Amino acid sequence: MSEENLGFDTRLAHAGRSPADHSGAVNTPVYRASTILFPNLAALDAKEGAKLRYARRGTPTTHALEDAICELEQADRALVSPSGVNAISTILMSFAEPGAHILMTDNAYGPARKFCEFTLKKFGVETTYYDPVIGAGIESLIRPETRLIWMESPGSQTFEIQDVTSICEVARKHGIATAIDNTWSGGYFCQPLIQGADISVQAGTKYISGHSDLMLGTIACRDGVYDRLRDTYLRFGVCIGGDDAYLALRGLRTLAVRMAQHQASGLKVANWLVQQPEVMRVMHPGLPSDPGHALWAKHFTGASGLFGFVIRETDRVALARMFDGLRLFGMGSSWGGFESLLVPSNPSVYRSATQWAPGGQTVRIHVGLENADDLINELRRGLDRLNG
Ligand SMILES: *Cc1c(COP(=O)(O)O)cnc(C)c1O
Repeated sequence: MSEENLGFDTRLAHAGRSPADHSGAVNTPVYRASTILFPNLAALDAKEGAKLRYARRGTPTTHALEDAICELEQADRALVSPSGVNAISTILMSFAEPGAHILMTDNAYGPARKFCEFTLKKFGVETTYYDPVIGAGIESLIRPETRLIWMESPGSQTFEIQDVTSICEVARKHGIATAIDNTWSGGYFCQPLIQGADISVQAGTKYISGHSDLMLGTIACRDGVYDRLRDTYLRFGVCIGGDDAYLALRGLRTLAVRMAQHQASGLKVANWLVQQPEVMRVMHPGLPSDPGHALWAKHFTGASGLFGFVIRETDRVALARMFDGLRLFGMGSSWGGFESLLVPSNPSVYRSATQWAPGGQTVRIHVGLENADDLINELRRGLDRLNG
């Protein structure tokens, strides 16, 4: 399914489906399997080339999800894994060898940094963290041993937009692979492979699932890096169950309408926050005032419901008054579900190449599918409680 002229939402509705192979059922059924039986010795002897040989290597349900992820991310190949963190470490591990060097954006998702700082370091891999807005300036950090450039745009917690096109151009010139965490866009508002990246990774846990009931990682890539990634993936025995693959496929069918709503409500809430006296700054690349807005407009077709803001310096007691009274906003890890979340964050602890000192308390908000005016009213009441 990749007829050029079909709309993205049309393709998402059909990707990874083959009703004729499943007695006409619209959706690819859940295959719960371990052993795959072969009908005769000749078939068993030929199993190396068989599409199905052992469920750790995939089932029709996981293959359907991989096909759909290829369609979503406009990728040649895809792999699916049990969590976003697993997908990230599978990629990083694939480029690790003693003496290798990795360049990672300073605002990368915390556990991605930790995998470099703790696990890869033990094996003699060095990581340099770079300013997220470095752009083509990344060239000055490249060494002969550099094997991978890691990006995340917008970055975790602070939402800087990266010049992905320029970074990928430099990387290509030096024969270095590029990977980007694309979780924020859900793959719906951005296809980094089109912008030159070799690998796009997502926590499918977030928008692909969309319902806060699934852990999933997705790796979408070009043919050129697939074998390297798949070798690591197979050696670590990474695989997911049919039920999880099914939930992800089910989430994908409504991704387009959910993302449109997250975008509209997110922008409404962001524009409202900008006007509140307690709010010092809003980090939302969809706002024309955001420093990353022009690059965002170039690389993204829209904005998801996740962004940040900074409220004036406050003590923990006042902050607790604000947060403990929330009814519609939940407090907890993750995001991308149908429900709204609000958490205080402390991005400065995840940085080394740059500083985050906004002069107030940073807050991360996920605008869910509730009525945006209800969310705004609840936020106003929260800010009133903060004031005492
Ligand atoms: C949540 C998240 C991850 C990790 O995903 P899990 O499924 O929780 O392991 C990776 N990257 C980003 C940007 C995330 O927000």
